Amino acid sequence: MIPRTQQAAYTPSWQDELKNLITCPKALFEALELPVEHLASAYKGEALFSVRVTRPFLARMQKGDLNDPLLLQILPVQAENKEIDGYSDDPLAEHQHNPTQGVIHKYHGRVLLIAAGQCAINCRYCFRRNFDYQSNNPSRTQWLESLDYIRQNTTINEVILSGGDPLVLGDSQLNWLIDQIEGISHITRIRFHSRLPIVLPQRITTAFINKLTSSRLNPIVVIHCNHPNEIDDDVREALCKIKQAGITLLNQSVLLAGINDTSDTLVELSEQLFDAGALPYYLHLMDKVKGAAHFDLPEKRAVAIHQEMQAALPGFLVPKLVREIPHKPNKTSIF
Ligand SMILES: *Cc1c(COP(=O)(O)O)cnc(C)c1O
Ligand code: SF4
Repeated sequence: MIPRTQQAAYTPSWQDELKNLITCPKALFEALELPVEHLASAYKGEALFSVRVTRPFLARMQKGDLNDPLLLQILPVQAENKEIDGYSDDPLAEHQHNPTQGVIHKYHGRVLLIAAGQCAINCRYCFRRNFDYQSNNPSRTQWLESLDYIRQNTTINEVILSGGDPLVLGDSQLNWLIDQIEGISHITRIRFHSRLPIVLPQRITTAFINKLTSSRLNPIVVIHCNHPNEIDDDVREALCKIKQAGITLLNQSVLLAGINDTSDTLVELSEQLFDAGALPYYLHLMDKVKGAAHFDLPEKRAVAIHQEMQAALPGFLVPKLVREIPHKPNKTSIF
């Protein structure tokens, strides 16, 4: 018999974690011991966009603190119901660049393939919070259509797997998709836009890494991390695996009022990301999506924060401050 102290602690698999998400305000409030008088407000927000959060991400939040910077990213609030001029359901007019279901082709040379209809967490500020995933709900039939579109467009050399979050897919589906993309000769790069290395770092398995390193495609992983508190030992381990496999590892953040809108926070984030193996890529100004206006920041303030970052960091640790302007063929730098 193995002495108790030597038994490995039970760690749920990433698949178990995905089945065990917190998906209702009540469970969220209980898990974090939040003041119940705010529960009604949470239900008013959740009616618009459901609650969804992984337990490993939840574990990095401070109990009882309604202003925790991680909690604020996933906590629904009544204010999401406010109608505010200039904030719309589809701020990027993506439906006009949806040439075939499951593909968003706006940018030269690269195409975004909607690999999954869901994420492991629902970020309240998400520009796709009102996206029609129902009719863009990925299935093998839809992927085949998307792949045909890519095959016929030889100007495309990079496929970006996005979503939703491509890494919520199981390995068999994901590997099938990677193999199919690999079979298109004009594609040279495959990029993953995923929040899972942060919110469910267990997803970065050796099998996943091996799949990428054995591919003829040049792999890039772009993670999405907004605050230094999101990085714990498990995240560092996952990022280290990606980096050590020689995969390009970049981070994008969204500038969010009340969450990461100080240069101190963002400088610390860049430092911690670099220590973990990731380079800052983009700092996005929030897309003007209905329901998230309370996270927005005046552009002037954003530029000032960015300048403070430049004064405090080496150039390679300063992300590009960008905004997505509908119909522009690239993201627009803000100075
Ligand atoms: C952001 C984005 C990309 C990727 O842009 P990069 O500047 O290459 O990172 C591609 N397609 C769409 C629709 C995007 O929004
Ligand atoms: S992980 Fe990305 S796509 Fe998914 S809800 Fe958050 S911001 Fe939106």
